Amino acid sequence: MMDIKKNDEYTVLIEDIGSDGAGIGKIGTFPLFIKDTVIGDKVRTKVIKLKKNYGYGRLMEVLAPSPHRVPPRCEVARQCGGCTFQHLSYEKQLEYKQNKVKNCLERIGGLKGIAEKMEPIIGMENPYHYRNKAQFPVGRNKEGKIITGFYAGRTHSIIENDHCCIQAKENDAILKILKSYMEQYNIAPYDESSHTGLVRHFLTRVGYDTGQIMVCLVLNGSPSKLPKKEALIQELTQIKGMTSIVANENKEKTNKILGIRTTTLWGKDYIEDKIGDVKYQIGPLSFYQVNPIQTRVLYGKALEFAALTGTETVWDLYCGIGTISLFLAKKARQVYGVEIIPEAIDDARRNAQINGIQNVEFFVGKAEEVLPAKYEESGGAMHADVIVVDPPRKGCEESLLKTIVDMQPKKVVYVSCDPATLARDLKYLTGCGYEVRRVQPVDMFGFSFHVETVVGLQRKDI
Ligand code: SAH
Repeated sequence: MMDIKKNDEYTVLIEDIGSDGAGIGKIGTFPLFIKDTVIGDKVRTKVIKLKKNYGYGRLMEVLAPSPHRVPPRCEVARQCGGCTFQHLSYEKQLEYKQNKVKNCLERIGGLKGIAEKMEPIIGMENPYHYRNKAQFPVGRNKEGKIITGFYAGRTHSIIENDHCCIQAKENDAILKILKSYMEQYNIAPYDESSHTGLVRHFLTRVGYDTGQIMVCLVLNGSPSKLPKKEALIQELTQIKGMTSIVANENKEKTNKILGIRTTTLWGKDYIEDKIGDVKYQIGPLSFYQVNPIQTRVLYGKALEFAALTGTETVWDLYCGIGTISLFLAKKARQVYGVEIIPEAIDDARRNAQINGIQNVEFFVGKAEEVLPAKYEESGGAMHADVIVVDPPRKGCEESLLKTIVDMQPKKVVYVSCDPATLARDLKYLTGCGYEVRRVQPVDMFGFSFHVETVVGLQRKDI
């Protein structure tokens, strides 16, 4: 093998993209992962890290661009830890995601011939400004001016950005007001190293359907430390749609953005959004899908794959604030939702109530514990015709998959944000009497390497 050393430079052709979006080029047969490159690029790269069988390179220069390379719309795309694919055409991003799902299902899931059952990924018509939630760290630049933006990859240095092209446009005006308020009243941003300063993050949420806006100031201390709150409120309430201005207290030395205590400074302590004809109340701490346009597509597919007729008992596992549960409730006889975070279940119950939906019941706990317990307790009465799962990236516990198989629902609808764990779990289910009928990737996160997938499974013996 060639003697490859750190800091050496090489010219390579990018032949593939890895699972986290970095381009892959080879020095001889030795693969290098190189961020910000595109399949087809010829690049000069510097080796920055070496492992036994692969390494990492920094992009030094694009010598000959790939035909799929596009100019990034964002000026700080390379430094910012947010987007991965600003330099890749949207069409090719979608192709990458479709392949990622297919490869995982084939290689990890052992699902041969799955490509025929896969629908083409549903992308966005306009993949910009899609996010309804933003969390901006607050700090100072070298000149001491207050800045907001996003963290650089893997560090907490703030890359200044007031016009993020995937965030809601409303944020630009909000950030301007918040920053000038801090400058005017000499309010210090939080400094991680000394654990001093007051303002840690600005969080915003925008209801897509309602236009309602929430602004949350995350503080290292009590909101009583904010001077001249009236002046800030006066400015912020000029923005159309402003509904809720809150402060969240987080005095911990932690990477977690939000603390537990929230105080309302003005207006309501939540905003509302609607999906279909179901209304949801969303607080600063609630989990809510960040791409409202594609959420409608995703839930629509979940509903389609569940193919409810009105007689079914449905379990919605990992239900969050009950978004999918309530969406399905109108078409089912009874829905049971399970979620580990108690506050989310409070939201779920309130959301059921404000919509007058009575055929849902929510339980707090781990899906893998609640489902078998309730099934057994009820002597099988709380059975399932359809089970929907929407787990976090790590996927489902095997014990949960076992209970699902024991309960023998006719259908399982798996909503996944990680194709690798999806594939692992599908391998289990297809090994235990279920068949994959439909696979629908949906692009919820344009310019990132993440992809969402809905899978419809059915028991083989029906
Ligand atoms: N279906 C919801 C939320 C999906 S996100 C929606 O579309 O809005 C995944 C959820 O699973 C999170 O709310 C998380 O708190 C919850 N969760 C994580 N581990 C869990 C477990 N073991 N049992 C139940 N819920 C869990």
